[in-house]
Amino acid sequence: MPEPQHHSVIIIGGGPGGLGVAALLQGWRPRLVGSVPDRLRTGAIPDLLTGASDDLLSLDMDAVVHAGISPFDLFRILHHPTNDYRGREARVLGFQKRPAIDWLMLSNEPAGGLWNYVPRNQLTLSPAHWMELAPYPMDEFFNDSGRNLDPNDLIEKKDLVPYYHRFVVKTGLRDRMRLDQNVVSITPGDDSRRFVIGAESSTAGRLIEYSADFLVFAVGPKAVLRRLDVPGEERDYISYHYDHWDDYPGERVMVVGGGRSADWAATELHDAGRHVTYVMRGQESTQLRLIHDSQHLPYYVRIREIIESGSPRLDRRYGIHVKAFEPGGRVLLDSHDFVDVDHVIVEIGGEPSYDLLRDFGRLSLTEGRDRYRLQLMQMVVDPKSYESVDISGLYPAGYLAEGTGISVLGMHCTVYPMAADILSKLRVEAES
Ligand SMILES: Cc1cc2nc3c(=O)[nH]c(=O)nc-3n(C[C@H](O)[C@H](O)[C@H](O)COP(=O)(O)OP(=O)(O)OC[C@H]3O[C@@H](n4cnc5c(N)ncnc54)[C@H](O)[C@@H]3O)c2cc1C
Repeated sequence: MPEPQHHSVIIIGGGPGGLGVAALLQGWRPRLVGSVPDRLRTGAIPDLLTGASDDLLSLDMDAVVHAGISPFDLFRILHHPTNDYRGREARVLGFQKRPAIDWLMLSNEPAGGLWNYVPRNQLTLSPAHWMELAPYPMDEFFNDSGRNLDPNDLIEKKDLVPYYHRFVVKTGLRDRMRLDQNVVSITPGDDSRRFVIGAESSTAGRLIEYSADFLVFAVGPKAVLRRLDVPGEERDYISYHYDHWDDYPGERVMVVGGGRSADWAATELHDAGRHVTYVMRGQESTQLRLIHDSQHLPYYVRIREIIESGSPRLDRRYGIHVKAFEPGGRVLLDSHDFVDVDHVIVEIGGEPSYDLLRDFGRLSLTEGRDRYRLQLMQMVVDPKSYESVDISGLYPAGYLAEGTGISVLGMHCTVYPMAADILSKLRVEAES
């Protein structure tokens, strides 16, 4: 085996989490281009910000924490000083290009991560500008690509995926991204290379070894899809991925799962004229609360209408587990009922692939929940740097880090303390 290809930083995952870090390592430095937002006019914060206004990655993160705010919140407010987007003049954060450091991204999907594979018509839960990565504002993308869209509106997959693809071009990341690589192993290295990474290249058709001093672990929340683990799961009438109703030509479809992805599939299939049996482990009260709290979203208005109309084509089964998939589309439930269907769509989410880190010992994980359910286990990090407390030199990105919210808005700004920490450690290493 040839010597591993070495890079100072390797980023695993090309979703919104990985792309945000990549742009900073590529040399895009955040700077203050507007006045300090009111919410940050407290204690020592304004002086700290103006003192580092040309390169906010040079901020003293210890002093920021000492002044009573986490670096994540600080950058989130600088990026989104108000919840609604108020135009270019209201921007506080700008970017200036400096030389790139030596980084490489390995991913097994195109830029934009899981957004490439969400359902064809998927609409976001959040306004378009909440989905942006700060170095390339969404309204600039709308202008550049001739889209007459409002950054304050929800955005469809067909417009969002091109944003992440264009982000890569606009910020000059393309040459350092290897999007045909499935990382299959990460092992501790030695003094000269902290991490050794094995990746299967689908184009080269072989395993390639890399090594790195720092690792950004941005594999996303669904790298390992959950399975029901019941007999008959491999039958050909079962699908673990929903794209569009026209993939399911039969009349009777069962949707298994109770999250937002399952809600989307059940609603769209119902409106396409299918008879939908919607089976979930959770209780009706939890789903009704989620529907009630989501009435700002058109597809939750629609599912409520369907339920309230008593449509005979939506048969909801709560507190139910699937026990087995039998031949001919017969599904056995733990209520001892059989349901005969043409197709089953299983939308029960996934988990981060923490198993890749098994050679580094036990990980400290904590529960990341939203108001409705446990979403995923998150890695415990140092809030000043977002470095793992267990694995020195490893930074979980996206919302794999403790305390980050389950959205791009809620996780993107971890990239600043993370990149600042990596850059300062590389500087120290270069000087010593
Ligand atoms: C249906 C749906 C709707 C959503 N709606 C919203 C919304 O409206 N607003 C919002 O903010 N968020 C929403 N989200 C949350 C969504 O998870 C985030 O928007 C975002 O995609 C998370 O970014 P990420 O980079 O952490 O992970 P991902 O987008 O999952 O990217 C991680 C990438 O790493 C790759 N990868 C994983 N393992 C490996 C490996 N071993 N080797 C190589 N590559 C690997 C993956 O294939 C993937 O491409 C939604 C999610 C879903 C599923």
